[in-house]
Amino acid sequence: MEIDYKNIKVIGFDADDTLWVNETYFRDAEMEFGKLLSEYETLNTIDQELFKKEIDNLPLYGYGVKAFVLSMVESALEQSNYNISTKSIEAILNIGKDMLNKPVELLDGVEEVLKIVSQKYRLVLATKGDLLDQERKLEKSGLTKYFHHIEVLSDKQEANYSKLLNHLDIKPSEFLMIGNSLKSDVLPLVNIKAHAIHVPFHTTWAHEQVSVKETNGKHYKTISSLRELLKLLS
Ligand SMILES: [Mg+2]
Repeated sequence: MEIDYKNIKVIGFDADDTLWVNETYFRDAEMEFGKLLSEYETLNTIDQELFKKEIDNLPLYGYGVKAFVLSMVESALEQSNYNISTKSIEAILNIGKDMLNKPVELLDGVEEVLKIVSQKYRLVLATKGDLLDQERKLEKSGLTKYFHHIEVLSDKQEANYSKLLNHLDIKPSEFLMIGNSLKSDVLPLVNIKAHAIHVPFHTTWAHEQVSVKETNGKHYKTISSLRELLKLLS
């Protein structure tokens, strides 16, 4: 069935791994963390334990680099049986600071596409994570001018999006979300009868992965580059 985008008034863009590179930096950080703990556990266990810690801490800390750093510190203490050196704790803090200081690397076609679609639609940056970090990345990206505002959601579930649509004073059918995560940027929207387009990024955090069953029969499009958006909306 063809999807009709003619009623769209507002387009929500996810930020991390949709507009700019993000997940790659987390993978690199996990590698560094693994090296710091290598005398205590195997790399695989270190990875799995850290992931568990992040998920356990999500309700308390939410998403983003700062939450990730706290989880690394806690995980390092536990995995080293409280033998980790203060130097290594400092190294973990520095992993986080390096992540926050990374330059923003835009993905292919982003600026060109935003320039064009912002002439016809109101654009909102809809992201979860840390407000300060996301604001800084948006600022560094040079893309601020294309967005009406930035919306940092504590999570990206159906209720969060329904609230966003209420604030925007639009119907679900008038909203299109674009992002790299099926779990966060696509399925919740389809479930509340809004539109969504999936633009996969080559790396997906385990927490964001969904099974084929969950996407079965769901009504959304997948594009391989943001540039394809122009054809869909024309
Ligand atoms: Mg994303």
